[in-house]
Amino acid sequence: MRVSRLLSKTLRQPPAEADTVSHQLLLRAGMINQVASGVYAYLPLGWRVLRKIESIIREEMDRAGAQELFLPVLQPVELWEETGRHLGFGPIMFSLRDRRDHQLFLGPTHEEVITGIVRRHATSYRDLPLLLYQVQTKFRDEPRPRGGLIRVREFHMLDLYSFDADDAGLEHSYQRMLVAYQNIYRRCGLPALMVEADSGAIGGKVSHEFMALAPSGEDEVLHCPGCGYAANAEKAAFQKGTPSLEEPLPLKEVPTPGVVTIEDLARFLGVPRARTLKAVFYSCCDEVVVASIRGDMEINETKLKRALGCPELRLATEDEARRAGLVAGSASPLGLQGVKTIADDSVARARNLVAGGNRPDTHIRNVNYPRDFTVDILTDIALARAGLPCPCCGRELASERGIEVGHVFKLETYISEKMGAQFQDQDGNLHPLVMGCYGIGLGRLMAAAVEANHDEKGILWAPTIAPYQVYLCPLLTEQAQVRDTTERLYRELEAEGLEVLYDDRQESPGVKFNDADLLGIPLRLTVSPRTLKQASAEVKGRKEKDGQLWPLEGLVTRLRHHPALASPEA
Ligand SMILES: [Zn+2]
Repeated sequence: MRVSRLLSKTLRQPPAEADTVSHQLLLRAGMINQVASGVYAYLPLGWRVLRKIESIIREEMDRAGAQELFLPVLQPVELWEETGRHLGFGPIMFSLRDRRDHQLFLGPTHEEVITGIVRRHATSYRDLPLLLYQVQTKFRDEPRPRGGLIRVREFHMLDLYSFDADDAGLEHSYQRMLVAYQNIYRRCGLPALMVEADSGAIGGKVSHEFMALAPSGEDEVLHCPGCGYAANAEKAAFQKGTPSLEEPLPLKEVPTPGVVTIEDLARFLGVPRARTLKAVFYSCCDEVVVASIRGDMEINETKLKRALGCPELRLATEDEARRAGLVAGSASPLGLQGVKTIADDSVARARNLVAGGNRPDTHIRNVNYPRDFTVDILTDIALARAGLPCPCCGRELASERGIEVGHVFKLETYISEKMGAQFQDQDGNLHPLVMGCYGIGLGRLMAAAVEANHDEKGILWAPTIAPYQVYLCPLLTEQAQVRDTTERLYRELEAEGLEVLYDDRQESPGVKFNDADLLGIPLRLTVSPRTLKQASAEVKGRKEKDGQLWPLEGLVTRLRHHPALASPEA
């Protein structure tokens, strides 16, 4: 490809709207073009990168024994009504009506569609296991698109669905996908850490995310340097200490004028925050919920949503709280009537806490669970953070930012039971299919690869996903010998099967070298009057500081074995 013919031009300065390194570099390199908020076009160079990622993914899926198919973007509301998951996705779903006033969704994911197909075609144990995948465009109406390709509303995704006869089969399929995913990231030159994750609106109990660690990542990963435990902060657990052995003391009311916050309360009474009980009011599906936790901890709203089984959760307004009879600053689950209550399991291990008296300016000492109060739900709703003890070995958890570049779920029978997707075993008995689902966003992987591999000059693509392998760069093209040698090299390199970006423009060496670096082409081949004097060209890897003169004789065949073109899997 001749640079003079390329659609896109490079930019010297990042556009003002670019908020992450990958966003800036992909725009500056002319790889993507924003069309609307969270909606991007891939320009020719960027599309080549995406297609290469796609073909690596295809190879790994096929190698894992999966079959490719293609499912529609338009999905009828009836399929979603079978599982009810559209309620969990909520306003993320792009919804539309056709000319017959029939409601359709633009698919954010395809579990309903694939299960609707598999229940018709795979009805016997002999049909299992099945691994089915596609690369398809998905739509999610994200509230806050950001980071260029990192959080978008229309995106390409690999999604694979596994169908097995039992949990052991699912485990086998799941492990197979974990290996395939690790291969994909390695081949794209992107180190990714597997972490425990929340299943969110997709469903199921067990899920893992693959995280590319980057300061611009929107997720927090907590991990243990001791035992390797790693989890998204939304999901992470921690040790909350051994249960207190103190004897429960009698309840005692104390006046606390003007005391509203836990900090005020701890200071006023001279007790550590860990000896207080904090109550927070939420509005959850039009109902006020009182969530309680030990005063030194924070509530994790992802865990809270999951425990309540409610997709939409927010802090209650003062008005909602008052109408529910709650006294801000002095609320607790003690003696509460007619309000839904949930508490973190830390309150059940503590003794003699100070809690709100549900009357203004009043608190109560020596509150003990379950002697003095009970709750509708008692479970882990605490937010883990760096410095707290690892749930497995007790070492201090460390924190990193990460970009989620893959998410895998054990759905088990969560969807197949709702959709009546069953198979017959050897004895003719019917069982629900045991499912898993697995997804990688291609554009996000591309952005994460840039976040992980760049320097101050531009992108450092792994040779496996670089748009071109060689940047052919003649200097002083007005000299016939330079021009003729480069044209000949261009033909020979392409004949050798190398992908060449040929900078045939009449630009200064500075402009050409800067563009070669910005675009991140792994190998630069420079021809100038100076190199020709020694019958050579200068060969320089993108990551190398200086180039080397290679004789023109035999250069084309030697170039293929340059270390800068060696794939990361080698
Ligand atoms: Zn640990």
